[in-house]
Amino acid sequence: MSAPYRPRHCWRVEILDEDWMPASGTHTDKAHAEALLEATANRRPGVQLRLIRETTTSHVEATRGVGHLPAGSNAEDCPACAGTNPPYPFLCPGPTPKETRL
Ligand SMILES: [Zn+2]
Repeated sequence: MSAPYRPRHCWRVEILDEDWMPASGTHTDKAHAEALLEATANRRPGVQLRLIRETTTSHVEATRGVGHLPAGSNAEDCPACAGTNPPYPFLCPGPTPKETRL
């Protein structure tokens, strides 16, 4: 099963003060964090700084109540097919035996 979530990134600046400490908040705009790094370096010459990229990934580990549409349905309309990019002609494979309600 492919993950429908893309990794998310944010950036922050850290400063070495015996240990690495936060020197900024987290920012989703890398250019902004780089500007903060530059500004901090200019304000505190001689200190050691680093730019940190944090990555958050999300994976579907369990799904409840969301099954496939009947076999042959348009996969783009199927919540269980979302993100799986099935081969052309993009048809939902239908419920697996486990999903079939008796
Ligand atoms: Zn489906």
